[in-house]
Amino acid sequence: MKAEIITIGEEILSGQTIDTNSAYIGGRLADIGIEVVWKTSIGDRLEDIKTAIRSAWQRSQVTIVTGGLGPTADDITKKAICVAFERKLVFHDEILQEIETRYRQRGTKMPALVQNQALQPQGAEFIANKIGSAVGILFRENDRYLVSLPGVPAEMKSMLDNGVIPQLEKLRRHDYIEVRKIRTIGIMEATIAEMVGDLQPDSENLRLAYLPSYRGVDLRITGKYADAALARREVERLTAAIINRLGEHVFTQGEESLTEVVNGLLILRRQTVATAESCTGGLMAKMITDISGSSGSFVGSVIAYANEVKRKILKVPVSLLDSVGAVSPEVAEAMAAGVKKLTGADFGLSTTGIAGPTGGTAEKPVGLVYIGLADSNGTTVRKLNLSGTRERIREAACYTALDMLRRRLMGGT
Ligand code: ATP
Repeated sequence: MKAEIITIGEEILSGQTIDTNSAYIGGRLADIGIEVVWKTSIGDRLEDIKTAIRSAWQRSQVTIVTGGLGPTADDITKKAICVAFERKLVFHDEILQEIETRYRQRGTKMPALVQNQALQPQGAEFIANKIGSAVGILFRENDRYLVSLPGVPAEMKSMLDNGVIPQLEKLRRHDYIEVRKIRTIGIMEATIAEMVGDLQPDSENLRLAYLPSYRGVDLRITGKYADAALARREVERLTAAIINRLGEHVFTQGEESLTEVVNGLLILRRQTVATAESCTGGLMAKMITDISGSSGSFVGSVIAYANEVKRKILKVPVSLLDSVGAVSPEVAEAMAAGVKKLTGADFGLSTTGIAGPTGGTAEKPVGLVYIGLADSNGTTVRKLNLSGTRERIREAACYTALDMLRRRLMGGT
């Protein structure tokens, strides 16, 4: 069964609004075995909306439109639906009564414009909106559906979940979609492709997608089969084969973030970490404490931005700071060991580097960062040459530091 999504609004095309509605709808439809094969974004032009609705109605069994449904948008979507299906608008007193009751209960006067919501295309069914005033529209012809929902994400989601998905679920299912995610860090997309390329399925039913970002590369495995058990089996088989090849580069098989994984490992081992942060200025501590439950693994942080703090609190020897400078492997090592000793944590993690955009030299360019990881066996230091904005460099430094700790906790290097 093929589905299609149409999002309406100039602000989506201009990039002011990120189209989260499509992502949500795509996910919900996939949950019930309906595959989205087309997605269109259009501005608030009647002619374009009409054309998109007509094409969608012809080629897709399910079409979901969002946006342009409220009175502020001049009901452009409703008009376009009327033109596309050659229908008139019909007044529905029951809709008006319901909206009026809602305004009365809230103790506010209903704006006259809202009365337009009682005018609906002839032959349409309605989808109740418990949050806002825009009424959803549903056209059904045999097993073909066109649904129009408001653009406001909260309204759209509630109407989709309560008024649309239950109806679509009843349609005969042709395919079961099974999806798994593998999240990696510390390995580039091309290297992953070299390592698992021969596992790439040569099939319409089973697919492997690479989703790279500066935080790491996620792999998505999707299976689409008529049989649910077969879909699960095939997807699990490919997932296991990939994980086997990628080994410790894989940090999770779910939606967990790297920080959540590290926190989980520490708690499991009843161990703790403290951070000593220069160039990351407490960002790593923020990332860790963003997780509820991090009090079980995180002791605290010293933001050792000035050399004075590195020296006085972390006990980095002044001779070291004078001879090799703050951005050096020796200082990263002393900071990590220093914070471990100061706090009594099992692990000390440190960052020192040049986040830029100013402050770089030929010898110590912007993006040069040293990470220190101290534990009871000593201290390891890693040198990074990062690129990008100040924000990106600081984030990448934190991710690498947390990944070093993760690998140590897994028993690796
Ligand atoms: P109303 O006019 O009653 O608010 P509407 O159906 O006319 O509802 P729009 O005017 O198109 O909806 O959009 C309302 C809000 O929803 C805007 O803030 C817009 O940014 C947001 N929105 C619209 N479409 C999307 C989308 N595809 N993804 C995420 N947000 C969206």
